[in-house]
Amino acid sequence: MIDLSCKLLIIGGGPGGYVCGIRSGQLGIETIVVEEAKAGGTCLNVGCIPSKALIHAAHEFHKLALFDGRSPLGITAAGPAIDLARTIAWKDGIVDRLTGGVEGLLKKAGTRLIHGTAEFLDGKTVQITRDGEPIRIVAETVVIATGSEPVELPFLAFGGKVISSTEALALDSVPERLVVVGGGYIGLEIGTAYAKLGSAVTVVEAMPRILPQYDSALTRPVMTSLETLGIKVLLNTRAKGLSDTGLSAETDGESIDLPADRILVTVGRRPRSQGAGIPGLSLDMIGQFIRIDETCRTSMRGVYAIGDVTGEPMLAHRAMAQGEMVAEILAGKKRVWDKACIPAVCFTDPEIVACGLSPEEAKSAGIETITGQFPFTANGRAMSMEAESGFVRVVARKDNGLILGLQGVGSGISELAAAFGIAIEMGSRLDDIAAIIHAHPTLGEALHEACLKALGHSLHI
Ligand code: FAD
Repeated sequence: MIDLSCKLLIIGGGPGGYVCGIRSGQLGIETIVVEEAKAGGTCLNVGCIPSKALIHAAHEFHKLALFDGRSPLGITAAGPAIDLARTIAWKDGIVDRLTGGVEGLLKKAGTRLIHGTAEFLDGKTVQITRDGEPIRIVAETVVIATGSEPVELPFLAFGGKVISSTEALALDSVPERLVVVGGGYIGLEIGTAYAKLGSAVTVVEAMPRILPQYDSALTRPVMTSLETLGIKVLLNTRAKGLSDTGLSAETDGESIDLPADRILVTVGRRPRSQGAGIPGLSLDMIGQFIRIDETCRTSMRGVYAIGDVTGEPMLAHRAMAQGEMVAEILAGKKRVWDKACIPAVCFTDPEIVACGLSPEEAKSAGIETITGQFPFTANGRAMSMEAESGFVRVVARKDNGLILGLQGVGSGISELAAAFGIAIEMGSRLDDIAAIIHAHPTLGEALHEACLKALGHSLHI
């Protein structure tokens, strides 16, 4: 047994843990990060980045396949083909560059990365099981950043043709028939990608609608596009188990059989709070999430928790922001979690961005609002990119024009997430955005015009 000690021990090297480790190292705190897989966590290895690479490849292929002499742009490109193994190798190259980059950044910051599985012996002592001799580390402060994992349905255990998002991002061929169980963002993003690559895709969703976190104005263009791509969306339909040919499901009390070569189960993610000796710490919990305060402290002195293991929204940028904040607090800086918005982006086609309050949420909070909406059909850049579906919407206080929320749907709109976040976090009012010169022709002009519309004097509609 090797005995080590440090000021800060971080368990998990995902976006939460590695950002915390980089920042604490930069601030001169003696830090160790323990990671049992590859640095970068879910996000870099099997989540955000590989899924967006696959989505991009599928988009490029689909554009070529659609052409076949029919493109209104005057382009012909007959007979496109996809070699998925090469696509996946290209995606893996991006992942390797990024995970290697994370290791380099930790090193540059003076933070040590140890590969192995951590288990708490008590609130300050952790044992690391690894290929070499086990290590015992005593730390002044511990940050739990163990992340999350896909939820498995007991009647559809992962294995064989039943896969999670992790396997879906590493297939060696395009499945002829893909059934996706769960109409949340992960299932729809990956389902859309495979539909574009040629799979016959069926989405099975138990609820009466897809993407329940967004209002129906935002999801309608996505629904239309799924239909155009030939994706069958079966709402109010419950998966029941495997059948001889694929998935057995139930809709309106009737059993249906959905033939499938692959069944992708994306019914949510569960926090990784049941391993690593965490239950033995008797931390306060909210369900399976670790309860934290506005500085990410848990109920135990010297134990912090960040990222997916602490609650919704389970998003990489929330984990990173928490990781950075905790490092700065430990270095003596005054920081609290005081976010007006955590942007959420859904990379379907078209994409959805939501920041701050929706009109419904503002109404439920008893705030009188005005809204302004501008469609991409009236935006020159969107027209020139064949991306006219969708709009930008602003929600502002009626009494003083303070912007409370910004939402939008459209191809390429994910790039407006930063502008939306800045507008809300900087406490902008409608006339602040109205007075800013927006470059022409860009999708961002739709944000400008939505604010003008809310003020009652839009120019281009
Ligand atoms: P994780 O990234 O899960 O990292 C936790 C790390 O801890 C893991 O590397 C794990 O190996 C390690 N670990 C756990 N237990 C131990 C232990 N006992 N010892 C040592 N190491 C341990 N988010 C977005 O913001 N945008 C997106 O577009 C997006 N797309 C996604 C697409 C998919 C397909 C998936 C699955 C997720 C996506 N997410 C996205 C979510 C995002 O990946 C997570 O929110 C983010 O990774 C959470 O970061 P984290 O640091 O909390 O945990």
